Amino acid sequence: MSAPLVAAVSVEFHESGFGAHPAAPIEHAIRRARADCGVLTSMHIGVPRETDPLERRTALVPAAASKLIRSGFTVSVESGAATGAGFTDADYTDVGATVCSERSALLGSADIVLRVGKPPVEEVSALRKSALHVSFLDPYNERGLVESLASHGVSAVSMEMVPRTTRAQKMDALSSQANLAGYVMVMLAARKLDAILPMMMTPSGTISPARVFVIGAGVAGLQAIATAKRLGARVEAFDVRNVVAEQVQSLGAKFVDIDLGETGQTKDGYAKALTDAQLEMQREGMKAVIAQSDIVITTAQVFGRPAPRVLTADMVAAMKPGGVIVDMAVGSGGNVDGSKPDEDVEVDGVTIIGVTNLPSEVARNASEMYSNNLVNLLTEYWNQEDSSLNLDRSDDILAGCLLTQNGIVVNESVRALYEEAS
Ligand code: NAD
Repeated sequence: MSAPLVAAVSVEFHESGFGAHPAAPIEHAIRRARADCGVLTSMHIGVPRETDPLERRTALVPAAASKLIRSGFTVSVESGAATGAGFTDADYTDVGATVCSERSALLGSADIVLRVGKPPVEEVSALRKSALHVSFLDPYNERGLVESLASHGVSAVSMEMVPRTTRAQKMDALSSQANLAGYVMVMLAARKLDAILPMMMTPSGTISPARVFVIGAGVAGLQAIATAKRLGARVEAFDVRNVVAEQVQSLGAKFVDIDLGETGQTKDGYAKALTDAQLEMQREGMKAVIAQSDIVITTAQVFGRPAPRVLTADMVAAMKPGGVIVDMAVGSGGNVDGSKPDEDVEVDGVTIIGVTNLPSEVARNASEMYSNNLVNLLTEYWNQEDSSLNLDRSDDILAGCLLTQNGIVVNESVRALYEEAS
């Protein structure tokens, strides 16, 4: 499909947002770059291919591109960007997006760049100086990248920093992806286990249900519990936040009660880090359950910190041969002694699975959910009448997730962390 004919406009960045200004001049290079992609646009979105070879998701599925186009955006997608998620270039042109095979032209022409993973730092200079970049950014570990986005004049939204509030739920990509990760972990473990999950009573004999222990009952853990229950397993779970005991029980699982003294959670619902003594008490309390489990799924995380080590080597060794452990935290420090990123490790007959990108295993659904989160974020701040995006930092969601603006790091907690480390 040909690009929509719109008035020649440029997009300028303002203190509180982006706006289209019909009279302002467009630099020649930008004009050319856009023309290279066959696009003349007022608020133009670019979706590059992901750079991580293990990433199969895309930031914008065709149905989501269609929604944005109907809202007044124009969309260009790099050729092949969604192949791993099951969508073809033709699926995009069918909904009115353009497909561009020139990556640098795509990046240089976009007012808004949408990605799943963080951009390579060497690609920051390819972005327009006033562009909005939306992706996961891992800001606590990626200071160089965040500062580079800031100094290049890019406004960067970090999807992991979207606050966990009721209003922001529809944009909460951490939850949408963790939910699918919870499902995937059970599938991976079930595939590896040399037994079935449900109880079966047949004339040939009775098979007992598999025992599954889920450590960490946040978004991913709760979905793992629900999935294992649906498959008929006998499920137990533990979390340092006692408040989740009721949610665990409501899914039909047993909450393992371990008294750790004062634990608590932050105002955002995240666990507080345990002391070393508390972590030791937790390991002691879990030992017997782990030794009886066929599958152990670990999802324990403390926001902004390395994952706690909840399973030590002796606890792994105490499991029966044939047992399976899935360590969801393998990419952020690891919950399990001996787990390795993107490897299955066998220790005395017990397999430890460490997949770093679990949502990518169900790339189509994960891309659909992530795209919805991005569409909801953009349309929340989009004024269709004057084609402007109002990124006002007094908005509580943007105060949480907009990291850079006007050449500086504007997010308070991230800036404080960087200043502290200087
Ligand atoms: P997360 O990924 O940070 O952590 C996963 C789980 O690990 C958490 O439940 C945490 O308590 C647990 N954990 C930490 N240390 C542990 C340890 N040593 N042993 C066992 N478990 C440990 O958390 P998450 O899943 O992203 O979300 C956590 C909570 O945030 C949710 O359960 C919910 O209360 C809240 N939340 C709220 C909203 C909302 O209101 N819109 C949305 C999403 C999440």
